[in-house]
Amino acid sequence: MKIYSFPRGGLSFDDPTVPPRNCSVTAFLPGLSVIPFLQHTGTRAYPVVSVGDTVKEGMIIGRGHNSGSANVHATVPGRVIRTVSWQMAGGFTNEALVIRMEGSFERLGKREELFPWESLSSYELQRIIAEHGIVEMDGAGRPVSDMISALRNIKPLTLVVRCVFDDPWLAADYVLCRERLKAVAEGSLIMSRAGRVSRIVFAFSHNEKELGEALLAEVEKRDLPSSLALVGSRYPQRNRRELELVLRNYEKKEALELGSLLILGPATLAAVYDAVKLKKPVLDRYVAVGGSAVKAPQVMKVRIGTRISEILAQCGGFIGEPRRIATGSPLLGRTIYDLDEPVIKTSYAVFAMLGSQAGASAERNCISCGECREVCPVGLDPEELYKQSAGREPAYTPASECHGCGCCEVVCPSRLPLSRVILGDKGRED
Ligand code: SF4
Ligand code: SF4
Repeated sequence: MKIYSFPRGGLSFDDPTVPPRNCSVTAFLPGLSVIPFLQHTGTRAYPVVSVGDTVKEGMIIGRGHNSGSANVHATVPGRVIRTVSWQMAGGFTNEALVIRMEGSFERLGKREELFPWESLSSYELQRIIAEHGIVEMDGAGRPVSDMISALRNIKPLTLVVRCVFDDPWLAADYVLCRERLKAVAEGSLIMSRAGRVSRIVFAFSHNEKELGEALLAEVEKRDLPSSLALVGSRYPQRNRRELELVLRNYEKKEALELGSLLILGPATLAAVYDAVKLKKPVLDRYVAVGGSAVKAPQVMKVRIGTRISEILAQCGGFIGEPRRIATGSPLLGRTIYDLDEPVIKTSYAVFAMLGSQAGASAERNCISCGECREVCPVGLDPEELYKQSAGREPAYTPASECHGCGCCEVVCPSRLPLSRVILGDKGRED
């Protein structure tokens, strides 16, 4: 089977501090949950409960009010004891409810009822997905209902199930894909009906071919055209630009007509399954917890709202003082300054690094080695763009082609913050 890879640049790398990918461990339920009103890229939900109110597991506590916002749910039963707020990157303030766990669980430990969806219309499925607050859990975090609306009249449309593990820190999505294979498969079918897509393509890293074939076999039982495209595992193969590039080659080679692409990952599709088939909002997230400072790295199934300090403690704590603690991949992660920050719908990894891994040395001047140009998948000159954007050219506007993959920054021996400076406020694309 042919393997489709983007033509230039990129990085292949391994990280021994990533947790093992053999299974997940269920994290303890949090005594105190912190549930933010904004858990994705977009606008926050409005609170519909107040301090002192009793909430049930899975109950709506924040209501999305326009496109870009999504409903937020309590993930444990209990009482709202206070609100908290903190400053996020970009200077805006996020607000959260703190829930003290009390009372009995509606769903946890109970047999789950399965709801048929096959006779529901696209609009009914979209409404259920919106009601349960489903957002892209492995991408930019857009509400899935908004994505369906944006593509409603576009034909043909292909659902691309993105299982491209080009970054070892995607371990949680890999484990989820294995442990919840049937949910991901049925979630793909539900999404196909909701989005009126005409084909499903499973885009899999070539070294996970067997998993891709198992997923395809689940879907082939239905009559929707579906196929498996094996793609390279060089980072940033999963980025939209690089993925679309290789899928257009696949389309040509296989004589298909893919049309527009709706790209979603396994965590999102499992959440779509939960919403429609189980009538359950996103209560948990698979999270890879590791890094050189963590005693026992593991992939954990964590209740949304669990504080990061608690999951680090469940991994045995630290073996030394961490220099950096962050969410996401070390390539693009966001540093955390308060360990009371919670796991949210879009948290796929948490890492804590010792100084030896984080890199203790300071920035130096560019030595014009050209490494950054070698790895840029877009063919840009990051050295030049950095110099312009660092203030030497006042008329500079961020390079529109740069999607912020971070490859240039990783290889720079002078430790210059290339992609962060080049992108400025534009933000990274997915
Ligand atoms: S990799 Fe860093 S040091 Fe080398 S040319 Fe690029 S910016 Fe300069
Ligand atoms: S961050 Fe931008 S400039 Fe740097 S390698 Fe990626 S696309 Fe190229």
